[in-house]
Amino acid sequence: MEAQAPTGVASLGKTSSPTALEIPGVLTVHDLSTLLGADPIDVIKQLMRIGQMLTLNDVVEYETASLIAQSFGFPVKPTEEAQRGTGSLVISPDEEEEAHLEPRPPVVTILGHVDHGKTTLLDAIRNTNTVAGEVGGITQHIGAYQVLFKETPITFLDTPGHEAFTAMRARGARVTDFAVLVVAADDGIMPQTVEAIDHVKAAGVPLIAVINKIDRPDADQDRIKRQLAEHDLLIEEWGGDVISVPVSALKGEGVSDLLENITVLAEVSNLRANPHRLARGVVVEARVDKSRGPVATVLVQTGTLRVGDNVVAGEVRGRVRAMLNDQAESIKRAGPSKPVEILGISGLPEAGDTFSAVSDEKTAREMAEKRIRERLAESGQGSGVSLEEIYSRLESGEVTALDLILKTDVQGTVDAVRTALAHLNTETTRVNLIHAASGSITESDVLLAVASKAIIIGFSTRPEPGAATLANQQAVDIRSYDIIYELVDDVEKALKGLLAPVTKDVVEGIATVRAVFGLGRGMKAAGIYVNNGIISRGAQIHVLRNDRRVFAGPVSSLKHFKDDVREIRAGLEGGIVVEGFQDYAEGDILESHVTEQSE
Ligand code: GDP
Repeated sequence: MEAQAPTGVASLGKTSSPTALEIPGVLTVHDLSTLLGADPIDVIKQLMRIGQMLTLNDVVEYETASLIAQSFGFPVKPTEEAQRGTGSLVISPDEEEEAHLEPRPPVVTILGHVDHGKTTLLDAIRNTNTVAGEVGGITQHIGAYQVLFKETPITFLDTPGHEAFTAMRARGARVTDFAVLVVAADDGIMPQTVEAIDHVKAAGVPLIAVINKIDRPDADQDRIKRQLAEHDLLIEEWGGDVISVPVSALKGEGVSDLLENITVLAEVSNLRANPHRLARGVVVEARVDKSRGPVATVLVQTGTLRVGDNVVAGEVRGRVRAMLNDQAESIKRAGPSKPVEILGISGLPEAGDTFSAVSDEKTAREMAEKRIRERLAESGQGSGVSLEEIYSRLESGEVTALDLILKTDVQGTVDAVRTALAHLNTETTRVNLIHAASGSITESDVLLAVASKAIIIGFSTRPEPGAATLANQQAVDIRSYDIIYELVDDVEKALKGLLAPVTKDVVEGIATVRAVFGLGRGMKAAGIYVNNGIISRGAQIHVLRNDRRVFAGPVSSLKHFKDDVREIRAGLEGGIVVEGFQDYAEGDILESHVTEQSE
């Protein structure tokens, strides 16, 4: 085997970029993530995937380090010493990637409670700082924009709020480098602020606190600082490490301080990417434009995207016909952290889908097809976890904490349940409440559960209808209780692997839509033919079009000729109305799902 001598030791300073990295025989998780230029959280997650539960200061064996490095796209060549088992590993980054890494602008998301000033702040930032040379362009809301602050570009995602943030994360996309938490100084920390804090913490993203509306006569900055401290966010002024910036978004005061802090944080975080490769990134949003066809806003994360590039975005492919920036100006190329609208794709990818530029059309087609096949193979499995799965992962040592999202009827019970659950912690396993609040179970809770592989526990509260459907689609385990003892008992059993069997999702039948009927007042029914199995009244119907699920919801009416029936069997025709869905098209496939007890 060819051995390559180390040509340098990793230095992540901005000035020198050696062509290869030397990984010592013994190194910690922290050292490894520094060498890879990767977020330690991502490295820890990757380690978890191969069954190793390590923390930042734990030592990684170099065989493991090698595997992890490969999973980050670094081909690995061992040194002679490494082959002898004594020395170090040399990792030659992809296409000498390391040598080409350059600083890239930070990508920032703004979160906070409704009416605390997120939109006003986004507007203030955008108005005071338009990227030089682009003045005069029309401001276009494309889902993200870039400003120039003292020569340093900063990218902002302009869909504020943690729902969008977590929805992307639930799809596996890590987009945001820093989160800006907006708290109105006259109002203080509110339920959605707490939710945003929990979502940011679960994502492991650094947070900057903005104390907004300081121009208001009833603004009380100290109160906000105290409240932040109560949520484990101790600001720098008080000896903590959370940057806080007082701002009046309305008057534009403090906005440059905020931008200054973001640039400083970016510098110490050493954000880098390689602009000299084919682009890779994430879809921020996508829509169909009447005259231009499908348009997607993508955020380039590494590489440079050029007009004419073949691309794959999610399951959609195409060739970039034109690119527009956030000023609606046509541009020819977009480097790392640049958001651009691209034209020329064949369909609509989803927000959070990954996109890549590839060398030719054939590769683009093959990649898109592969993704479709993978999704179909996974369909129905969802991406959530169940309490039972958590137990087996606890047992195998893959995880040591049971991550829970707790929703209760009133705030008082949050604390009661929290205390009761804390008693279950042992030396080896721990209950980790990543979010606990009062109120019904929302879609945002379900997305957080998907993104964090957590279970949702409801105490005297229920899921909202949309949340129940989403949880069903994503196979997120929602458990509802009305008696604290039962709740605690189930969690304890889960920790000990003694949980009673629960349910699983089973497809009981498949039908094809052959005709669409109007029922008056805009209501529609589908005339169906049942191809196999049965379609029954109590089922959840998944509507599939072009192999994609476009909707899922319960049966609201099922007829055979004029009669209401409980089920329709294979080979028969009938009429169906799926609750909440009107958009049937001939040729749609209806999959009928029911819940069964699993062994
Ligand atoms: P969002 O829901 O968080 O996006 O909040 P908005 O940006 O829509 O702001 C909510 C309200 O607060 C609007 O009426 C804004 O004009 C007002 N507002 C936002 N920032 C400030 C500020 O710094 N000072 C004052 N006095 N009002 C503000």
